[in-house]
Amino acid sequence: MAENDLGGVWRTIGGRRVFIKDGQDLATAMRESGKFGNIKEKEEDNSDNKEFHKLENGKMTVSASEQEEIADYYINAWEKRIEKGDYFVKSRFGEKYENLLKQKEEGFKDKNYDLNRIEDCKELLDNLNWQIYDNDGKFERLDKDLRAEAVQQIYDITRNSPAIMENTEVNYFFLQADRYGNDTIAETQYGKVTLNVNDYYNKKHLEDIYNEGISNNWFVGVGKGNETKEFITHEMGHVQHQQTCDYLKKYFQIEINNDETSWNKEALNRMPESIKNVKEIKEAISKPDDYSGNNKRIKKSFTEEPIRRVMKNEGLSRKEVIDKYVSDYGKRDSDEMFAEMFANGLLGKPNSLGKETINYLKDIGGYRKW
Ligand SMILES: [Zn+2]
Repeated sequence: MAENDLGGVWRTIGGRRVFIKDGQDLATAMRESGKFGNIKEKEEDNSDNKEFHKLENGKMTVSASEQEEIADYYINAWEKRIEKGDYFVKSRFGEKYENLLKQKEEGFKDKNYDLNRIEDCKELLDNLNWQIYDNDGKFERLDKDLRAEAVQQIYDITRNSPAIMENTEVNYFFLQADRYGNDTIAETQYGKVTLNVNDYYNKKHLEDIYNEGISNNWFVGVGKGNETKEFITHEMGHVQHQQTCDYLKKYFQIEINNDETSWNKEALNRMPESIKNVKEIKEAISKPDDYSGNNKRIKKSFTEEPIRRVMKNEGLSRKEVIDKYVSDYGKRDSDEMFAEMFANGLLGKPNSLGKETINYLKDIGGYRKW
């Protein structure tokens, strides 16, 4: 039987004809055709990956159930806040809240986004209370593919991160494009991520920076096919780091609800058992009034606990772990180390420290377990 008698379609990929059987994914078809060298199974094919949406020529679909899940999350969160008399949330998100209720009543349908269009990028991110700030049309000047994947990564990481989601209940976060000096590819301040037009204008240019960075040990690598995503995921690592610290602080009654005097103990009781014995957290628990010290301790736990886990698993010293798994740039400070390990841990081919960084985030409820 000739191949084209089977159910399926022929497609031309990279100048090579590939037959894709019905129900078969592209990576498997490419692998089976034998025309593309060794295609590794997991690494290149994340079509079944619930954690990240697959972009096909800038297009992605958000399922009805995913929209409903997000809507339920915000409806719930905002209702709680409104009940508590949080009028700020009502004035800022009141209209969105009403809209979500309406949509829920009408029922959600799968939605297609074409992230080649800025309007669609804006709409997708707005679902999670991220705003694209298109100052002087700079966003227009970014490479379309890079722009699309940055928007998709921000969307997916936020959706997977209870810690970030919790803050987008009260604040808008921002994505903007701007022009920097030569050495800043992207930058993050709290909930604002900025991409440098001078680097994001061309995919090949960003790939060159990536390859140069790998060979100079400016950062550790990520899985194949994810090269240019390293930058935006690193920036989201900074967002995740900050937001997860804030998220954990709720157990210590730091900055939040200081007027509720009995809350501190109750909140500590709700802390997941899995982190009560983490060295820095334990210290923080024993010093409930040391506000600035505990800020630092909590933040420190996000790099120190993963390092300790790898030390234990691999019988290495702290220095050996860092030398083995962290780049020269990541060694600068714990913020950079965390952001680097976050990107490494999420984007295929994680090293031991990248893996443990994500595991720790999951253990404390800062990142979703799929
Ligand atoms: Zn950084």
